[in-house]
Amino acid sequence: MSHMIYPTTNFAATETMNIARGDGIYVYDNHGKQYLEGMSGLWCASLGYNNAELIEAATRQMETLSFAHMFSGKTHDVGMQLADTLTAMVPVDDARVFFGSSGSDANDTQIKLLRYYFAAIGKPEKRKIIARERSYHGVTVAAACLTGLPINQANFDLPIDALGILRTDAPHYLRGKQDGESESQFVDRITANLEALILSEGPETIAAFIAEPITGASGVIVPPADYYEKVQAILNKYDILFWADEVITGFGRTGNDFGSTTMGIKPDMMSFAKQLSSAYVPISASVIRGDMYAAMIDPCSKLGVFGHGYTYSAHPLACAVALKTLEIYERDNVFAKAAATGTYLQTRLREFNDHPLVGEVRGTGMIAAIELVANKETGEAFKDGKVGYFAANACQEHGLISRPVAGSSLALCPPLITTATQIDEIIEKMGKALDDTLAFVQ
Ligand code: PLP
Repeated sequence: MSHMIYPTTNFAATETMNIARGDGIYVYDNHGKQYLEGMSGLWCASLGYNNAELIEAATRQMETLSFAHMFSGKTHDVGMQLADTLTAMVPVDDARVFFGSSGSDANDTQIKLLRYYFAAIGKPEKRKIIARERSYHGVTVAAACLTGLPINQANFDLPIDALGILRTDAPHYLRGKQDGESESQFVDRITANLEALILSEGPETIAAFIAEPITGASGVIVPPADYYEKVQAILNKYDILFWADEVITGFGRTGNDFGSTTMGIKPDMMSFAKQLSSAYVPISASVIRGDMYAAMIDPCSKLGVFGHGYTYSAHPLACAVALKTLEIYERDNVFAKAAATGTYLQTRLREFNDHPLVGEVRGTGMIAAIELVANKETGEAFKDGKVGYFAANACQEHGLISRPVAGSSLALCPPLITTATQIDEIIEKMGKALDDTLAFVQ
């Protein structure tokens, strides 16, 4: 064992895989074994590995300007270019953007922007945030309070109440429905719960509702078709902002440019990281509406400067690589091509609906999950995550990297550049792993 303290890992576990290099959509371990990276790393390496243009952009930027900060009025061209390119793409009106280094810090920044904004417009009491059960928004102290997964909250004594984080239902029909409830009755019930929560807390105390348009870590939950329309109507009624956490769903992942587009959401704020730079370098972005930014300008001299910024906010290297990534997305029509490949992936994955272990195949575009169940007839879940881990390991044996999420679901999130032939390869390897898993549980 090395001296590493590993992230999101059982301290008693031993090291199981040592990745040595990557090329295209494949990675190779230290013994030379090839794996199809069916998770794009951690839902992030959208353009795959060893992309010559991204390496070249990074090298050139390191030679030109390896560091410059953005505090107290300083700036640099590559940072401003990225801000302008990104804000022109997003479905937020006259967007403004703050850069950081991770999805978690992007969400922390949004909490600060919300607090500062509502203080600036004379509504400091509007500070609570509604987050959902089974959501994932990161792991810094504040972002972990937003996250709705027990594993990220247990044992950390998080200041969830102090931060004013409220919790509402996860929009997962399979696991959330009550006896005999139709999908539309389910949506009516959970959106009525949302409205009741808002009324009991007082709408004047609630700043925003945060949601991943389609979730990732909590099992790739694609909400029912009319869910967001109903949520958005309630939020509009009570003057509550829609904050889309697009750390996974941003940039062509869901069959469109953004998850908000796919799900018909009109967000006021968006958080990005991961695919913003195709994960070649760490960078995140917190986007807000232009009028929110404008409303903070004059009050700033009274409130004091916005005292929030990271040494690495808009790091030139990260900006240069992100800028090149966005250029490649646009120039190579990456989102439209990924949408077509995604349709094929979703069709082929649904062939597993007939498999005795498969309870649900979910997803859209190039993100999916297969939920394994103990009883196909009743949909009864496995008691713990052992079967999911076994299945992910079986995938690995067959040369496919998948990820166990939400107990016994297997996630897939292949690079956007994956071809139809490589989708066939994923399906073949996944099929073998499912059969191995069936033999394991029988
Ligand atoms: N938000 C979402 C939706 C995520 O999926 C993640 C990470 O997976 C985060 C935030 C946190 O990002 P990071 O791990 O870069 O802090």
